[in-house]
Amino acid sequence: MATFNLLLLPGDGIGPEVMGEVRKIVDFLSRQGVARFESESDLVGGSAFDAHGVAITDAAMKTALAADAVLFGAVGGPKWDKVPYQHRPEAGLLRLRKDLGLFANLRPAICYPALADASSLKRDVVEGLDIVIVRELTGGVYFGEPKEIVTLENGEKRAVDTQIYTTGEIERIARVAFELAKKRGNKVASAEKRNVMKSGVLWNEVVTHVHKNEYPDVALEHVLADNCAMQLVRQPKQYDVLVTDNLFGDVLSDIAAMLTGSLGMLPSASLGAEDAATGKRKALYEPVHGSAPDIAGKGLANPLAMIGSLGMALRYSFNLGDAADALDKAIANVLAAGLRTKDIAAAGQNAVGTTDMGDAVLKEFQKALG
Ligand code: NAD
Repeated sequence: MATFNLLLLPGDGIGPEVMGEVRKIVDFLSRQGVARFESESDLVGGSAFDAHGVAITDAAMKTALAADAVLFGAVGGPKWDKVPYQHRPEAGLLRLRKDLGLFANLRPAICYPALADASSLKRDVVEGLDIVIVRELTGGVYFGEPKEIVTLENGEKRAVDTQIYTTGEIERIARVAFELAKKRGNKVASAEKRNVMKSGVLWNEVVTHVHKNEYPDVALEHVLADNCAMQLVRQPKQYDVLVTDNLFGDVLSDIAAMLTGSLGMLPSASLGAEDAATGKRKALYEPVHGSAPDIAGKGLANPLAMIGSLGMALRYSFNLGDAADALDKAIANVLAAGLRTKDIAAAGQNAVGTTDMGDAVLKEFQKALG
């Protein structure tokens, strides 16, 4: 039986509550003999600051670097609003992303039929939606230098951000998108703005080159990022895998997120480079939502984004596609049966708490796995 090292970083606010539901599923997988999970847990964010004076300790980072996958809950909250900038809760997540070299961010947007009415778009536009946005996470305008605000001679100020991409950066994110598409609908759309940006021209050229030389059997379409934003709200089901840079990915993935109805439903994965010797990638899985201080400690949080993040880990880090499919099916079944946490309940509909939702998914998962 395969053994995997898993680091659980529940974090702050609702993080530990939703992580609790994931633990139940991990324990079940081990008991069933699907795989052996050697999981460790550590502090991150505000809770790490309270205990150790930093947002993540070197020891926790060492465990993260050695792990097959990191599962991350959420960090932050008003309690830590005034801590020194370098120790703010988010610094823990940023260090993890940087030190693990996580350059590819995968955000699925799935609209379960049972939740189609929670979307702001019409049911027929979103029902059955299943797309993944692959966003470049470590390059582009958020990191390019110069990045500054200077005062000009006439007293005016001038702000500069710099969009930079190299061939290698574009090639590796394109490969992640094509590989992913091969396991899904075999279609990639690449979004940039080649009409007004040199980085868009290069992006387009490199993606075209990688496609021609390595993935000619995958369908590739190029789309201007602004048009892509419109298409996402007009006819989102036309896409399968959508690959784009850091800035456009930030915006487009948030648009796609809202198609599905609630923050509590959205998992994500961040992947690093493939190790040449082992073929494994460093990986961190986390829900898109934050620590939700307004509902923390009340047992109200929706655990499905966190559970869906475990599903992504099963698929992408542990090669347990059948278990991942079973978990996705369990989530869909629970929703189809009418179970709702407060964030996804319609007006007047009864809502269940975090543990009831987690238990129901576990029960369906047990059935689906046989
Ligand atoms: P948030 O995602 O925490 O909450 C936004 C709204 O969505 C709240 O009303 C919340 O109750 C609701 N919500 C979020 N997740 C939910 C879930 N699983 N179930 C039910 N409802 C849910 O965003 P925010 O309020 O802007 O930020 C709160 C704190 O979280 C801040 O300190 C922020 O910095 C931090 N944050 C952390 C991360 C992260 O850890 N990756 C991401 C975003 C925000």
